[in-house]
Order: sequence, then C-alpha cells, then structure tokens
Amino acid sequence: MSAPPAPSVPPVPPYGPYREDCPWCGSRRLRGRPRGDGPRQGAPHRSVLARCSDCRHVFHNPLLTPGPEHPAVRAGARLRHGLAARALIRHCPEPESWLDVGTGDADFPHTARTHFPYTSFDGLDPTRRVLRARAAERVEEAFVGRLTDPHIAARLRGRYDVVSLFQHLERVPDPRAELWAALRVLRPGGHLLVDAADPRRLLLGHPVGLSAELVARGCTVLTGSRAHRVIARKDASAP
Ligand SMILES: [Zn+2]
Repeated sequence: MSAPPAPSVPPVPPYGPYREDCPWCGSRRLRGRPRGDGPRQGAPHRSVLARCSDCRHVFHNPLLTPGPEHPAVRAGARLRHGLAARALIRHCPEPESWLDVGTGDADFPHTARTHFPYTSFDGLDPTRRVLRARAAERVEEAFVGRLTDPHIAARLRGRYDVVSLFQHLERVPDPRAELWAALRVLRPGGHLLVDAADPRRLLLGHPVGLSAELVARGCTVLTGSRAHRVIARKDASAP
C-alpha cells in the first residue's frame, strides 16, 4: 500500500528586501552585507548573517524566504538539534506538549523526539511544509501561519509545556513581537528554548536585550547571558 501523496510546496522567490536597520533595536550600525546586489537587479543574490553592533542581534539579511535548507546544512543541523534537546532535559525532563515554531519539515521535533519519547510535538510554519511534516508523522498537529497571527495566537494561548524557536528569531521581521507571542502560547511554568544564532558560521551570543526582555515578561532565564542557546521558564505570575 502506498502512502498518500504529500502536499505540494509552491516555489517562492528566494529573498525578501535588504534591511538597513536592526529588527531588534532599530540601530543602523550593522556588520555583514550581502554581496552581488545591484540596483538594476533589484534584489541581492544571496543573504548573509548580519550582526547589529549595538545589541548583538544576528539576523539573515535580506530575510530568507522560508524554504528547504541544503542537505549538508540539514545534516549539520541534526547534531545541533540533539544538543539543544538534551540541554532542555535538565530543566524540563517530561513535557507533555511542545510547539516548534518555524519548524519547516519538522527536523527539530524529529530529532528531539528521540530524547522525549512521550512528548506530543506540534509544528508551526508559514509554509505548507509543515503539512507535509504532519503527513510524515513528524508532528501531531500542524499550523500554517505565524505566531503573531491573531487566530493562531488565540487558538494556542497557554497551551504548551515547551515552545522552541530554533534559529527563528533571526529570520523574522519583528523578533520582539515573535518572542512575546511565543510566551503567550506557553503555559505558566513552561519552558522557552531559543537558539539564537548559527555557531557554524559565527560564534555569537544572543542579543543583549533578549534576557532582559524575558525577565521583563515574567520569565526566569536558566542559561548564561552569553550562550547562543537560551532556556527560560515562564513564571506562574507572568502575564
Ligand atoms: Zn540591534
């Protein structure tokens, strides 16, 4: 018996517009610029990781339009997915429900599941790739959209023991709004996992403002301030 055909994924243009300012703090002191662009072509040929000199936020510039990664990149990512999952075990050994945001083909839940066999993983992604991931039984529920979409936010509010943002904040136009939205879908006492930069290319800490932002939103940050991976617990008193 053959499996039903996977939902097709329409082609998308490779890059969004180039940004002159930091999506986290608005500073225009950015390091790292895309090469090969020209006014006549209108769009750069490739995206690079840019870093804000003021707040250390790292982001893809121009923003990458969501799409499948190169197979070699995905192979490298599997190792990091395993490390991130194991880092969470110490703080949250038996979550019941987990939402992976920007999950794509659900590579992260697929790896994390080996460490959390009793956890129910859901996936959220702006593309229909997440439906394909559900068809492949990599996630139990699939949501197409963004955390900041009102209908998604309302439906998922306070629902998850763990929310993971794996190299996601550097891919969205408003990372702060995305972070707030992630905290709203977390239940009180739940854990947020943010993997904020790609150390295969750049060894960087997370944005200076990230920990402060999390504390201000009623979280306890459980990892060091210079770690590229941040684990925080949403306190019971958080809004
Ligand atoms: Zn900045």
